[in-house]
Amino acid sequence: MTDRPQLIIPHITAQTAFDRAAEKRRDTEWLDTQRASPEARLFLLIDLKFAIRSDPDRSKTRLRPFTARELGSVGLEMAGASFLGIAEDGAPLFALCLSPSEAARLPDGAETFAPLVDLRTLANQGEMPPAELTLAAQMRGLAAWHATNRCCSRCGGKLELREGGWRLDCWACGQLHFPRSDPAVIMLITQNGQCLMGHEPRFQDNMYSVLAGFVEPGDDIETAVRREIMEEAGIRVGRVEYVASQPWPFPHQLMIGCWGEALNSDLTLDPVEMPEARWFGREEVRQMLDKVHPRGHFVPPPLSISHMLIRAFADGVLG
Ligand SMILES: [Zn+2]
Repeated sequence: MTDRPQLIIPHITAQTAFDRAAEKRRDTEWLDTQRASPEARLFLLIDLKFAIRSDPDRSKTRLRPFTARELGSVGLEMAGASFLGIAEDGAPLFALCLSPSEAARLPDGAETFAPLVDLRTLANQGEMPPAELTLAAQMRGLAAWHATNRCCSRCGGKLELREGGWRLDCWACGQLHFPRSDPAVIMLITQNGQCLMGHEPRFQDNMYSVLAGFVEPGDDIETAVRREIMEEAGIRVGRVEYVASQPWPFPHQLMIGCWGEALNSDLTLDPVEMPEARWFGREEVRQMLDKVHPRGHFVPPPLSISHMLIRAFADGVLG
């Protein structure tokens, strides 16, 4: 995701060991051949949680692969599976995503495929290979889009799966719908060897992170950074530089990581969005990263780009 060697890479990335074969998705005959292949591997997502398998000592976790026959034996069909790509060994990869009500119709309900684990937990555990986490992130983003696009947003008509799940066509008005990635900026703002971090009401107690916000219509990246920091903290930002980006499938954001230079230091906080924020020095941030802060403050774990930006500040790479 970046060529800056000093930056650590978050656990969830776009780095991948499989070929998405996006150029072949439109070829329905080719897709049907892949679906019918005995080599095809299916992964299962139930209520956005993954069927997994672990080593006996639980040191390694992998996505649990199924054959079409295995899933067929409990009444699940390949027809609704989304195409993910082609594995390094040539096997076609598919994702079958079930809602809680669909899972309830299985012989033993969702328990049939236990254990089911969510992506955040898998990424935090650090026991799943990065390439599989990338695959899981792609599956989750696509599944979340399908889950919230049951009918046409233009006319309310029924949608039909196309291109292996990467397009939804309206049966009534013909509108084509494509998977969304919502751009959001996340920024390390610094001044005089200090960085700005805040505690949002939705955070765990004692967790502080760099500030973030959605890119709005009419924004470019730099404007979004400056606007969000002014809105939430009353800080004017001068120079803004792009650092790195990250797919963030909760549900489907593209996080655009930036560094920005503050032009003033007195904070005026938005009482709703950012009731608590302040400047942190490098030594204090290191204590938070190492979880030895005297008041128990800490920062987000390594799955996210926020951790990468904060680590880069602590190491003197940014700011
Ligand atoms: Zn429509």
